[in-house]
Parts: sequence; C-alpha cells; structure tokens
Amino acid sequence: MLISRLAVIGVGLIGGSLARALRHAGEVGEIVGCGRSRENLDRALQLGVIDRYTHDIGDAVSGADMVFLAVPLGAMESAFHAMRGHIDQAALITDGGSAKASVVEACRAGLGSLPSGFVPGHPIAGTEKSGVEASFKELYRDRRVILTPTAATTAEALESVESMWRCCGAEVTCMSVDHHDEVLAATSHLPHMLAFGLVDTLARMDENDEIFRYAAGGFRDFTRIASSNPVMWRDICVANKEALGTMMDCYIKDMEVLAGTIKRGDGERLLEVFSRAKAARDRYIETASEQDSPE
Ligand code: NAD
Repeated sequence: MLISRLAVIGVGLIGGSLARALRHAGEVGEIVGCGRSRENLDRALQLGVIDRYTHDIGDAVSGADMVFLAVPLGAMESAFHAMRGHIDQAALITDGGSAKASVVEACRAGLGSLPSGFVPGHPIAGTEKSGVEASFKELYRDRRVILTPTAATTAEALESVESMWRCCGAEVTCMSVDHHDEVLAATSHLPHMLAFGLVDTLARMDENDEIFRYAAGGFRDFTRIASSNPVMWRDICVANKEALGTMMDCYIKDMEVLAGTIKRGDGERLLEVFSRAKAARDRYIETASEQDSPE
C-alpha cells in the first residue's frame, strides 16, 4: 500500500476525487478529511470518501504520511501555517492548486521554509462543480497532472507523488513553477476570463432575458466554464496576476485588431484569421484525440 494515512485538506471536487481514486485503487489505509463545512464533511463520511474528519488542520496532518491540500489558493498560506509543528518530518506534502508560484510562496511563509517532502502539483482535470458531492473516482483517469518540484524537493518525494497520481490513472509531467503558471494562464485561466467576461457583459445588457432565451448550443458550450466557483477563480486570478495579465493584454490587442477588421468590412482579412484559427484548432483536436489528452 502506497499511503498509510492520507490527510485531505479541503474535501471538495479535487480533494474528494483523489481520496475516491486512491481508495478504489487500494493504495491508502486511512483517509482523514479536514475542512470548514461540517455539512460537506458529514456528506464525505456518508459517501465513504473519508474515514473521519476534523476541523483542525494540525490534528488532520499529525501522523499522516501524505498530505494533500485542495483548498482555494487564497486559503493555502493559512493551511500551511496551521500544519506547522504538527506535520511529521518525513511526511510528503502535495497540493492541487491551479497556480503554483503562489502555493510555493504560501508554503515558505506558512511553514517557514520549503520542506524536502513538498511536491507542488496541479491536476489538469476538473468540472465547473464544487464540493464533495461533485467528486468522482475517475476524475483523473487519462488526465495530466503537472508536478513542479522546488529546489528543496527530493527525488524520492517526487517519485512517491508521481506514483500516487499514476495509481489514479493520471499521466504525470514535470515542469518549473514559472513555466506552469505561464502555460496555464494561456490554456486555462484566459479562457475562463473570456467566458466570465462574455456572460457578465451580456447579463448586464437591458435586453439580457431575450439574449439568453435565443442563445443556442454553441453559447452553452462556450460559456459552461462561467458556472465555475467564483471564489476559486478570484483566487486563481490574484495568484497568477502577472502571467494572466500579460496573456489578457495580448488577447485584448488581437481583439481590437479583429474589431477594426470587422468595422472596415475587410472580409478577406477575416477569412485569413478564421482559417488560421480553424487549422490550428483542427490540428490540436487531432493530436489531443491521438494522445487521449484532457479537454
Ligand atoms: P471545492 O470548492 O470543491 O473544494 C474546496 C474545499 O476546501 C471545500 O470543501 C471548502 O469547504 C474547503 N475550504 C475552503 N477554505 C478552506 C479553509 N480555509 N480551510 C479548510 N478548508 C477550506 O474546490 P475544488 O474545485 O476542489 O478546488 C480545490 C483546489 O483545486 C483549488 O486550489 C483549485 O485551484 C484547484 N483546482 C480546481 C480545479 C477545478 O476544475 N475545480 C481543477 C484543478 C485544480
């Protein structure tokens, strides 16, 4: 068995799904849940996702050989701080936070230094739903997990966390913290801003009832991610403000050019842009389905 006692701090979609997948794989002895909402933790117990729970992070991590933090990014530093003095020296610590530089900083600030057993991580998997009720054991199957080891992380710690994710059916990739934050700003954080921004703009228009009434399937697909948890996304934006800000400036510039092209009625130029975008997306879909890649 890979893990004797797993402490899951934040038993929501991401933490609950990891607990379910490891339990299903038979790779974990006891699972201790920790969070703020009694209702959510009671539900996690009923569903068999965790074996017991506590609201005290220090209690939760004491005696655990693996700690998984799956709280919103804004709650990471206080979670690390609450672990201080309670976590075993040899315990491994990893997380599922969507931006990595901020989690590394939160760990340094909360624990006082970066432990050799700390392996920051990010599963590239999720849905727009929250809470343990939304968790499921297949969430990570055939999905990618990015690990961003720090200079202090040992090879053994990295290997153990990689094994944990492989047990859940995930494919593990390693990269630097900064590279992760830049790549994710482009592929995940920017698209979420487009969806939130578009729905908010339309919702504030006077005739918004009518706009939403006539919205077709494409609108529904494109805006699905605007139903994601606002607290989580506020935290992601604040945590990755530099990389996301740069990406947004670049996109806004291109949108201004596109708006100018439309206003001039320059059909030839529009055809060029749309054909280039279609070719790029078709190529991406082809490679993604070949590799059975995440959405
Ligand atoms: P969630 O809302 O489903 O779960 C978060 C849990 O943390 C909740 O149970 C909440 O009660 C608990 N919590 C909040 N503040 C806390 C605190 N201060 N102390 C203890 N518990 C606290 O959210 P989620 O989707 O599971 O996201 C968790 C983490 O995973 C976030 O850091 C997010 O960036 C990351 N992530 C999310 C997705 C996604 O698609 N949802 C994908 C990849 C990574």
